Amino acid sequence: MAKEKILILGAGLVGSLLSIFLAKKGFKVEVFEKRPDPRKNDVLGGRSINLALSDRGLLALEKAGVTRNLDQVMLPMHGRMIHQLDSQVHFQPYGKANQAINSVSRGLLNEYLIGEAEAAGASFRFEHKCERADIDNSVLSFSTGGKPKEYGGDIIIGADGAYSVLRASFLHSDRFNFMQDYLPHGYKELNIPAGKNGEFQIDPNALHIWPRGKFMLIALPNIDKSFTCTLFLPFEGESSFEALDSPEKVATFFSEVFPDTLPVIPNLIDQFFTNPTSSLVTIRCYPWSKKRSLLLGDASHAIVPFFGQGMNAGFEDCRLLDEIIDAEYPNWETVFQTFEKSRKPNTDAIAKLANDNFIEMRDKVADAGFIWQKKLEAR
Ligand code: FAD
Repeated sequence: MAKEKILILGAGLVGSLLSIFLAKKGFKVEVFEKRPDPRKNDVLGGRSINLALSDRGLLALEKAGVTRNLDQVMLPMHGRMIHQLDSQVHFQPYGKANQAINSVSRGLLNEYLIGEAEAAGASFRFEHKCERADIDNSVLSFSTGGKPKEYGGDIIIGADGAYSVLRASFLHSDRFNFMQDYLPHGYKELNIPAGKNGEFQIDPNALHIWPRGKFMLIALPNIDKSFTCTLFLPFEGESSFEALDSPEKVATFFSEVFPDTLPVIPNLIDQFFTNPTSSLVTIRCYPWSKKRSLLLGDASHAIVPFFGQGMNAGFEDCRLLDEIIDAEYPNWETVFQTFEKSRKPNTDAIAKLANDNFIEMRDKVADAGFIWQKKLEAR
C-alpha cells in the first residue's frame, strides 16, 4: 500500500528538516513555501542572519543523516566574551575546552536542508503563500500569481512559523487554547564587516555580549569573517528605539554604552536607520493537532531568542516525531497525541528559560549592566 501524501507548510529550517525525515520514511512529501527558492534568490526573510546551533539541534541533524558538509557553514563558539563599559573584555567558557555552541548561517543551513530534502525525494513549491487551511478535508488554499489554487493531502503539517496559517485555522475550532506575548523590547541587526586585512575584527570563537542592564548588544561570527550583531532595546522610553531618532543620538548612545563597537562598525548610522526593527514574541497553544493536521516548530511554540534554542527545539520536534511515527504508525491520531503530550511541557520549560535568560544576559553576566543602569537612574 502506498504511504500517505503529507503536505508541509513552510520551508524554513524546521519544515525543511522534517521533510527529510518524512521523505526518508517513504511518504510522498510536498512542501509549500511563500518565499522564492533561497538557492536562486537572496531571501533571508528579515530575521537573524546567523543562529546558535547546539547539541540538541545537531543530534536531530545527525538522526536525519545530514551532518555532511555542515562544518562548512558553522563556527564553534566556546564561551561568552563580555564587553564591559570601559571596553575591557573577559571570557566565560560555556564548559570544558572542547565544548561549544555553533554559529551557523540561517540562509546557508536552510539551503543545505532543502537540497538534502529534495535528494531524499521531497518536492518543494516556492512562491506559494497559503491563504487558508481546511482541516476537515486536509486541503490548503493558495493564491499564486493572483490565481487561486488548492492542494489536498492525507496529512497536513504546519511548520509555517510564529504567524502560522494552519494555527489560524485551529483558532476556529473548539477547545483550542492560544496565547501570544510580545516583549517590550525589539531587536535590530547590525553588521561588523571583516577587517581591511580580510580577517575577523573581534575574536571569532565566542558569542560576544555587551550587557547593559535594561538592554544589550550581542554578536555572532559568520564564515565570511564578519559578525552579525543584534541590538536588543525597549521600543519605548529611555534608551529605546523610539528615543534614538536622530544620527546624533545614535552616535552619542553608542559612544557612551558600546564604545568599542565604533571602530568596527564603519557605517553604523546608515545601518541603524536602514535595518528594520523587529518584535519578539512567545507563542503558546494547545493542542497542537486537529484531525489529520499538526503544528510544530515556531508555529506551535515560538520563543524569544535569549536561550538560542528556538530552532534547536524545532529540530528536536522533528527527531521526536520521527521516533513516534516509528512506534505508532499508521495510527496518526496516536502519533499526534503522543507527540504533543510529551513535547508540550518541555517547550513550555524552554520558553520560560528563554525569558529568564534575557535578564541573565543583559544584567547578570557582568557588573557593567548594573553600572550603566545606575548611571541612567542617577540622571
Ligand atoms: P520559521 O523559521 O519562521 O519558518 C517558517 C517558514 O514558513 C518560512 O520560510 C516562511 O516564509 C514560511 N511561511 C510562513 N507563512 C507561510 C504561508 N502562509 N505560506 C507558505 N509559507 C509560509 N533559534 C536557535 O535555535 N538559536 C538561535 O541562536 C536563535 N536566534 C534567534 C535570533 C532571533 C533574532 C530570532 C528572532 C530567532 C532566533 N532563533 C534562534 C529562533 C529561530 O529563528 C526559530 O525558532 C526558527 O526559525 C523556527 O523555525 P521554523 O521553521 O519553525 O519557523
